[in-house]
Amino acid sequence: SKEIKIDQIAQAIARVKTIAICGHVMPDGDSLGSELALGIALRKMGKEVLLFSPDPVPEAYTFLPMASEVKHQLEDNNQKFDMFISVDCSVPDRLGDFIKLIQLSEQVVIIDHHAGSTVFGDLYLNDPEAAAAGEIIYDILKVLPVNIDSDIAQCLYVAIVTDTGSFRYDNTGPETHLRVAELLRVGIPAARINKQLYEEKPLVGLKILKEALDTLTLSGCGRIAWMCVKREVLQKLGAHDEHVDGIINYPRMIKGVELALFYREMGQDRFKISFRSKYNLDVNKLAALFGGGGHSRAAGCIIEGDFESIQKKILEAALQVLEDAER
Ligand code: 5GP
Ligand code: MN
Ligand code: MN
Repeated sequence: SKEIKIDQIAQAIARVKTIAICGHVMPDGDSLGSELALGIALRKMGKEVLLFSPDPVPEAYTFLPMASEVKHQLEDNNQKFDMFISVDCSVPDRLGDFIKLIQLSEQVVIIDHHAGSTVFGDLYLNDPEAAAAGEIIYDILKVLPVNIDSDIAQCLYVAIVTDTGSFRYDNTGPETHLRVAELLRVGIPAARINKQLYEEKPLVGLKILKEALDTLTLSGCGRIAWMCVKREVLQKLGAHDEHVDGIINYPRMIKGVELALFYREMGQDRFKISFRSKYNLDVNKLAALFGGGGHSRAAGCIIEGDFESIQKKILEAALQVLEDAER
C-alpha cells in the first residue's frame, strides 16, 4: 500500500478505462455524494464507470443525479476492473460484499477521511482533516480535465453538508466554506436540496423518533444520554434502518450531555452502536475499544451479545473515557 497525494490519484485515474466505485455499508450523504460525484465526472471523461453500494440508497438520497444507477450486486462475479475506488470507507469490512472488488481489480484506490483508518489498497489517501470525503473528491476533480457541472456540484454539496452537520460541526473550516462557495457558484438548488434532506422526512421517521425518545435515558451525572431502537419497533412501524439515521442527534442536544449513544438492534444479539460527542470527547477512541471507529465527534461499532450486558459494558467504558477526558 502506497500513500499518495491528490495529483497522483488524478494521474492514476487518467491511465485506466474501467472503474468500479463503492462507498460504505448503510450509506450516508458523504458516501453516496462522493461516489456519485466521482462517477459522473469520470464518465464525462470517457471512463467506463460502475457504481456500487453494499446497502440500497436511502430514500432521502434518491434525488441525487445518477442515484438510480447505484447497484447492490455485481452482475457478474468475474467482472474485472482496471481500478476500484473505495470512498469514505475506513475499513475493508465496511464495503460489505463488495470487498471482493479488491480482488477483482487491477488497482485499488482508497479515498478516505476517517481517524486512524486501516491502511488497505494499492494507493491510499486518507485525510482526517477533510470534513468529508466529498472535499477530497472536489480537490481531485479540480486537477482532472473535467468541468464540475451542476450534477457533480449537487453531489459534492450533499456530501459536505451532511458530514459537517450543515456546517455546524468543528470539522468545518474556512476551506470547507470556500469549496462550497465554488459549488454554489456553479448553480445548484441548495435551499431545495436542504429541504429534501431535512424537511421531507417520511411520517414513519417521526414515528420511530417518538418510539426512540420513549427510551431516552440519562446517566446519573447527566453527561451521557442514550436511546435504542429494537427490531420489533421497526417491524411494527414498517420502518427501515435509514429512518433511524440522524436520531442520535436528539440525545446529544440535551443541555449538559457530552456523549450520546444510540443502540440499533441489527439482528438477534447483534447491535450497532453510534457514538456522538458535543465538545471534546474523542468518541473514535471509545468506538475503537469495541472494534469500531470513525471520527473524533462521530463514531460507531457493532457488538454481539445480549442487550443488557452490551449496555453495561458500553456505559462503563463511556464513563471511564469521560472521566479520563475531564480529569
Ligand atoms: P454512524 O454512527 O452515523 O453510523 O457513523 C458515524 C461515524 O462512525 C462514521 O464516520 C462511520 O464511518 C463510523 N462508523 C460507524 N460504524 C462503524 C463501524 O462499525 N466501524 C468503523 N470502523 N467505523 C464506523
Ligand atoms: Mn460516511
Ligand atoms: Mn464521511
